[in-house]
Amino acid sequence: MLSVLRKIRPKSLRAKLVFWYSVVFIGPALVLLLLIYARATRYLQTEANSFLKDEAAEFGRQVEARMPDVTNLQQYLKLEIGERRHFAPFYRILDAASGKILLVMPQPPVDVPVAAEAVRKAREGGHSVETVRARGETAKTYQVRTIAVTVDGRTYVLQYGILLKRLHGPLDRLKLYLALCIAGTVFTAIAGGWLLASRSLQPMTDTARTLREIRSTALDRRLPERAVKDEMGSLTEAINSMLDELEQAFYHTQAFTADVAHELRTPLATLRCEVEVAVSRDRPADEYRAALASALEQIKDLSKSIEHLLFLAKADSSTSLPDRTRVDLAATLNEVAEPFGMLAEAKGVGLSIDVAPDLVVEGKPEWLGTLFGNLLDNAVKYTPAGGSISMRARREDDCVAVRIEDTGAGMSDEEQGRIFDRFYRAAKSHSRETGGVGIGLSIVRRIVDLHGGRINVQSKLGQGSTFEVMLPAAS
Ligand code: ADP
Repeated sequence: MLSVLRKIRPKSLRAKLVFWYSVVFIGPALVLLLLIYARATRYLQTEANSFLKDEAAEFGRQVEARMPDVTNLQQYLKLEIGERRHFAPFYRILDAASGKILLVMPQPPVDVPVAAEAVRKAREGGHSVETVRARGETAKTYQVRTIAVTVDGRTYVLQYGILLKRLHGPLDRLKLYLALCIAGTVFTAIAGGWLLASRSLQPMTDTARTLREIRSTALDRRLPERAVKDEMGSLTEAINSMLDELEQAFYHTQAFTADVAHELRTPLATLRCEVEVAVSRDRPADEYRAALASALEQIKDLSKSIEHLLFLAKADSSTSLPDRTRVDLAATLNEVAEPFGMLAEAKGVGLSIDVAPDLVVEGKPEWLGTLFGNLLDNAVKYTPAGGSISMRARREDDCVAVRIEDTGAGMSDEEQGRIFDRFYRAAKSHSRETGGVGIGLSIVRRIVDLHGGRINVQSKLGQGSTFEVMLPAAS
């Protein structure tokens, strides 16, 4: 049964719902209607048998009272038949010894076959009930009860029957009603299922239509909020919040691409200009050398910017830190600080490093190197000769705190609020010597975020800055 259902199972969700709704609805209704029919048939049968029993007994009593006067009995039965309005009776008397038919009513007789088995049973003092079909044109079916009575030492086999048509009539009518009921049930189930499926699937159809309309040009469109917080409501909420994130990511990418194009265009234009000027006429070799050296510097800056941008694109795409390992932060900090010692010295800036041993965090060692490298690079860049820089690292409760302090240019409050934005450069750093492209600190913040830490800056214009990085210590 199940495999048959599976084979004819429809493919569309709506049709599937209608199909299963109908199966669930019609199945029990069908069983119930069949049960009603079976019960009714049984009930009518029992009633008919009781009636048959009473009437056969009465027939027996009349035979006992009137036999052997067959004519008298015949007249009585004729009157009896005439009075019957509903159940047309059938009477037959046989001589038990010879099996000869002594009387049949009504007249002219219907040819109801004599069942030898029933006669034998009655003769032996028993009784039986059977359904017998009359022979000939009449082809009527009777329910016949056979009993035996003894009058004056002579045994008669009596057969009393009723036409089953009376019994079948109500049953046929019941059958018709039940068939109408089944047709009604099937119709109601399919129509109800269709209506129910349509109503429940309508929000999905609307959602699909709205989603099809949302293109990159209409990313701000949202699905209408549902008043009822049902399953569809939470689906709408989930889709809307996904659209929020997609919209943000899309605009973020757009802004980032525009920024990148803008940031690379200026140095490229400068470079092109310088090269064009250099090749515009014949020049002495040292002028060419100077032009090439300058071009090389700019190409180096451009490569660095592109490297940073690639790094940011990679870090941006990760929601959590890939390949997390235990990192000996003390060793990483000492390693990172090493080249800056020479740079600071060359610039006339003092650099002191004070890193406590056994500082362990979980993360990506190269990214942590980039983080502190960028902070030290800025400190050296923005601290003029004669200034000093210190890097201290300590364990504080559950965190490792790294503070990089300088006595350099410092920043105004307004600048401090924006330095972590991409491509932000304070006015003072726009000069070619110090200025980067303004992505170093956005990389720093992204790395800190991915490590589950936080970063603070305290700075005073003209007095110096302190960057504090707190990273969760490894357990
Ligand atoms: P850049 O490549 O321009 O240094 P960053 O993202 O690293 O870009 O820094 C953004 C801006 O923050 C810089 O232009 C600079 O004005 C300011 N800044 C960063 N570090 C310091 C510092 N230690 N002292 C003063 N200003 C700083």
